[in-house]
Amino acid sequence: MKQSLTPAEAQGIIQDETPVLGPERVALSDALGRVLAESVAATRDLPPADNSAMDGYALRSSDVAGASAEQPTRLRVAFAVPAGSTPTQEVEAGTAARILTGAPIPAGADSVIRQEDTQLEGDDVLVKVASPPRDNVRDVGEDVRSGEVVLPAGRRVGPAEVGMLASLGRTVVTVHQRPRVAILSSGDELVEPDGDVAGGRIVSSNSYSIAAQCAEIGAEPVYIGIANDTREDIDRHFRAALRADVIVSSAGVSVGDRDYVRDVIEKLGCSLIFWGVKMKPGYPLAFGRFSGEAGPLVFGLPGNPVSAMMTFEQFVRPALRKMMGFPKWYRPVVRARLGETLTKKSGRLHFVRVTLERRGDEITAISTGNQSSGVLRSMTRAQGLLIFPADASEMSEGSEADVQVIDEAFFSSEKPAF
Ligand code: AMP
Ligand code: MG
Repeated sequence: MKQSLTPAEAQGIIQDETPVLGPERVALSDALGRVLAESVAATRDLPPADNSAMDGYALRSSDVAGASAEQPTRLRVAFAVPAGSTPTQEVEAGTAARILTGAPIPAGADSVIRQEDTQLEGDDVLVKVASPPRDNVRDVGEDVRSGEVVLPAGRRVGPAEVGMLASLGRTVVTVHQRPRVAILSSGDELVEPDGDVAGGRIVSSNSYSIAAQCAEIGAEPVYIGIANDTREDIDRHFRAALRADVIVSSAGVSVGDRDYVRDVIEKLGCSLIFWGVKMKPGYPLAFGRFSGEAGPLVFGLPGNPVSAMMTFEQFVRPALRKMMGFPKWYRPVVRARLGETLTKKSGRLHFVRVTLERRGDEITAISTGNQSSGVLRSMTRAQGLLIFPADASEMSEGSEADVQVIDEAFFSSEKPAF
């Protein structure tokens, strides 16, 4: 087992060990947010035929080349083509067909004149402007050509993809499976949120924050519960978690007297790959893998609420995104100007919880205050995680730093852009 890795080394090992999950077929209505595990080729042209972009009249452009408001061209309206019908007649010279938006262009016609540029007179239509060839005609296949790959494998299914799949007649699509993430906590002091906190007990908030972090990215949290600080109970909880794709446990992986997690999972067949990452918060992170093809990955997160969330954020989240087939696994990063001077001891990379503010063209980052790993408020306030490099001990006010943006709402706007 490796010890005391840099965050980058830890990231590299985790990504090497993390598989991309296989495909499954889901109903189109369940596909939103999933990642395509197939390339989707069109089996039809879209639109399926030349059709009208306007309500008006399909005609031969040569018939109305000289039309003007003063000298309109008179055409006989020979038939009508409603939307959803197939025209059976041909537009002959000196005639037009009434046509509605989306209806197929009948044979003989090469152009559509808008209703607004005409006047109906009995069975005739007076055309007041010329209508060049292909005017107001939407070409067959102008959106999609049959046989063309429209959506490549690896594409996240958003609302537009859902619409496209529907247009192509796909009611079932093949996407990457979502990882099932077994979540368990350990500690004699832990109770459920509605439990009695008398006598030094605390709520197992990690179970909930971690489940939420999973759900937020589309992974499937499976709540296993709280294990007591005994080998037997930890063993029982881990056995219940073995069928998951990933096991995330929090606490008990440190060097405390009763930190049995490492011991127990190794006996159960988990090879621990590393322990300890030079970061703050979150040093005591353990990572391993149960043997066998389908053996789950195991993340033993630290117990402190901020450390648990931070190690999930930096390591579990990217791994889950890889499993789900996403091509990009990491948060967006912006350059931000420090609104204050930060100091620390050199040696570990710090993830400083910051709020972000746009000032003109720049983004300013300000610490959320107390950065202790037990202060969950620092996470509720944080919009970004500022990278304070391992070997640095001071970052002065006004200098620039990389910030991972963890609050997508930061990019939202109070005003419309138009
Ligand atoms: P440990 O890793 O067991 O030494 O725990 C470190 C700190 O995290 C202690 O203060 C624990 O009470 C706290 N802690 C452990 N598990 C949880 C949890 N599930 N939810 C909230 N805090 C926890
Ligand atoms: Mg504990």
